[in-house]
Amino acid sequence: MNPYTLVVRGNVVTAEGILDDMQIAARDGVIASLHTGNERLAAEEIIDARGKLVFPGIIDAHVHCYSYSHEGVTNATRSAVAGGVTSIVDMPFDAVDPVTTDSILRRKIIAVNKEAIIDVALLGTIPKTGEATELPAMVADGICGLKLSVTESDPKRFPRINDAILHNILPQYAAYGLPVGFHAENDEIIRHNTEVAKAAGRRGIEQHGATRPPLSEYLEIAKLLEFAAYSGVPLHLNHVSLPRSIAMATRYKKAGCNITTETCPHYLLLDEGDMVRLGMRSKINPPLRENGAGEGLWKCLLAGEIDILASDHAPWPLSRKASDDVFANASGSPSVETLLPLMFSEAVARRGAHPSFLARHMAENPARRFGLASRKGRLFPGMDADITILDPAISWVIHADELFAAAGWTPFEGVAVQGKVVATIVRGRLLYNGRDVLGHPGDGRFLPADRQQGRDA
Ligand SMILES: [Zn+2]
Repeated sequence: MNPYTLVVRGNVVTAEGILDDMQIAARDGVIASLHTGNERLAAEEIIDARGKLVFPGIIDAHVHCYSYSHEGVTNATRSAVAGGVTSIVDMPFDAVDPVTTDSILRRKIIAVNKEAIIDVALLGTIPKTGEATELPAMVADGICGLKLSVTESDPKRFPRINDAILHNILPQYAAYGLPVGFHAENDEIIRHNTEVAKAAGRRGIEQHGATRPPLSEYLEIAKLLEFAAYSGVPLHLNHVSLPRSIAMATRYKKAGCNITTETCPHYLLLDEGDMVRLGMRSKINPPLRENGAGEGLWKCLLAGEIDILASDHAPWPLSRKASDDVFANASGSPSVETLLPLMFSEAVARRGAHPSFLARHMAENPARRFGLASRKGRLFPGMDADITILDPAISWVIHADELFAAAGWTPFEGVAVQGKVVATIVRGRLLYNGRDVLGHPGDGRFLPADRQQGRDA
């Protein structure tokens, strides 16, 4: 009998550097040992990826599987695995039943175990009224954090949680050590601007940015940073779109607050000018910003001031982007599949960042922040054998009809990319071979957060 079920050979990327020509040996889905390239190892399956980059499995910390109820976990995780993603953190803003109670959570866990192709960690949330009585049970059942919004997209699915409720509940949350993620845009400014624009008959795509100015992000980030300082809650700022927001967060981090920040490829690579080109497809919250904001974010990112790169995959079909009235269209874009290729191409191939940078920002940091680090995020003995192999020599062009995303479109249509995912391995099983998705619904699992450790970033 072979001692190992799988051996992967290649240049292993860690959060610290690259180990050239190494072999990762896995048994029953778990990494058993690491070996130099010249050792002879016997295994049931050997993947020879010499010359290619062997990353720890990529974790996308911001995915919406059920905001659009026809997407679901299967479609989102199929698209994810083809993008080299081995685990996702799914948002709780589900169209039918946002994850506000333990019974809803348990139903979702059952669905994930049936439908997922890769592993899925889950967040909880609270209703607009602020009841948090279900939280202890949801924590016991393994949620990896909470996600709340201070702006309202929908009173049930995506409600605004007001300051009085936050004042009351955040100190209670702090006791659990769970990260609380926020969508940070100011509700009053956006609502007022939207009413004015509608009354004036202004409903074009340019109204999206005009009604949600930078100040609407700054105000809420500033407020949430004070809430973090006051309550001690581990704060995670989702999809930060402006460098000034990062600068504010960095000041509070330096003062000792437990804060992490996240940004997404669309804020790094697209701007207001692209909104003219992309039309209603480019309606994303927060909006794409003025030219120059992305460069500012790159500076923060490459200086280590942004902790996590995530996609905010929100795969609305084009039919929900088809109205002439921007306010009637859905917000978000399908993006889990292009996350790693775009970030490798732009950060590593184009801007010269070390590949370990991506291992930190897209595997280790999200695993640590969301309490998944006992099993995910690093290529060490004892960890799950989640491995993403990227060939840095392949250049290709993103075309929606060649992606697995069910939505059938991408804001990055026609973008030339350097580096391609050639294999995705989840718990020791090859689920994507660079061409076909080999994984099936049920291959993935609900990923409960670690009980004690790992919630510090
Ligand atoms: Zn989101």
